[in-house]
Amino acid sequence: MGQEISCIRQGAREHALFRGVQNGELEIVQAMVDHDPSVLSRTTVHGNLFALHVAAVHDQIEILSMLLERSVNPDILNRHKQTPLMLAAMSGNISCVERLIQAGANILKFDSLHGRTCLHYAAYYGHLDCLQAILSAAHSSHIAISWGFARFVNIRDGSGATPLHLASRQGSADCIHFLLVNGALVSASTCGYGYPGSTPLHLAAREGSLDCVRELLAWGGDRLQTDSSGKIPYTVALKHKHAACAALLNPSSPEPLVWPAPLKFISDLNPEARTLLEKALIAANKDRERVILRDTMNSFSSSPVHSDSGLAEDISEASDVDLCSICFEKICTIAVKDCGHQMCAQCMLILCCHNKPNAASSCSKSPLCPFCRSNISELVVANVMANTSTDEELSPSKPRRSSRRSFNSEGSSSSFKSLSALSSFGRTGGRNSGRVVAECSEDLDKF
Ligand SMILES: [Zn+2]
Ligand SMILES: [Zn+2]
Repeated sequence: MGQEISCIRQGAREHALFRGVQNGELEIVQAMVDHDPSVLSRTTVHGNLFALHVAAVHDQIEILSMLLERSVNPDILNRHKQTPLMLAAMSGNISCVERLIQAGANILKFDSLHGRTCLHYAAYYGHLDCLQAILSAAHSSHIAISWGFARFVNIRDGSGATPLHLASRQGSADCIHFLLVNGALVSASTCGYGYPGSTPLHLAAREGSLDCVRELLAWGGDRLQTDSSGKIPYTVALKHKHAACAALLNPSSPEPLVWPAPLKFISDLNPEARTLLEKALIAANKDRERVILRDTMNSFSSSPVHSDSGLAEDISEASDVDLCSICFEKICTIAVKDCGHQMCAQCMLILCCHNKPNAASSCSKSPLCPFCRSNISELVVANVMANTSTDEELSPSKPRRSSRRSFNSEGSSSSFKSLSALSSFGRTGGRNSGRVVAECSEDLDKF
């Protein structure tokens, strides 16, 4: 974009205008526009950028605002039918994105290059803040009504790629996460419904990003779906020599924990509680991965494992005071709202996860509190030490002895048994939870 602007040969005035916009010389640009408003209809020689595009690309928010206040069309198009909003989203200029949306920019415009929207641009270039701003605009605009929010999140470009495909292809795990939370279809195929095409998992496998593969798997990405050439994501990862990704995608390796379907039945899942549970899910899967990847490293010892910082050991010990009375390893971070019983996010997750999401029959009930057996209708962040324990959850999980037992247990009854067995050690160190265990151990034994 820079050279396009520097290549202007259209006369000194245009040159001065675009240079002024690019450099943020508000007063000079303002004076030029006041002197001759027709300069606003001029474009750069290359790419046909208008002043508003140039301001959006170069993050010149003051000039952008000034132009919008002078009634410049926020959806003005360049040669490739790109709007200033697309270019701001591409460049990650969040304040320009917000200002353009505020000025009424249309988030549902498609460029003529690849048939992409501003949402595609934000996802492709990995700008989470822009992605959030655009989706929040979609929530509150007419698009949610006329188009449907879910349809907008899964909007396809000219090649059939959704924003989730593009984020996966570019290795942007946080964008992937945000899109999935907002209803992106994890196993969408680029060729549309019913036809074989690439899924986000195929693209992440090709890219070799372990974080992206992990995120997609945790949301139920299908390891067995084939693309148009009949390959499953595992084969794609092998072909591109991403050994660690291939290990996770190998259909014969243990299935990861998947964001549990029963949680959908918990009304008003507190956003903070949800974040804790999501982090616990990723941490639990990293724990499982350690075993899978160790085996992989033995057989692929020449290939380095990428983005494995999360697998580092963390030996910090939680204080005894608020230890979860189920696993005795993590701090209580989640509380059941009505009864007030607390446990760590990971144990809560196991409680909700012990039924596979495809076991439709068992997913129709909400999970029960393991201490008092009341229905869990709402989860909240535990009050006690909530702030410090967030860091605890964020940090890579340490090797677990007892909790692994519960991850491996199959079926609901054995899950509850393992929860019960662990609890009935009756360690009384916990301020809240320990007492609860003592009171409830009778109940637990009935499972
Ligand atoms: Zn626990
Ligand atoms: Zn309870």
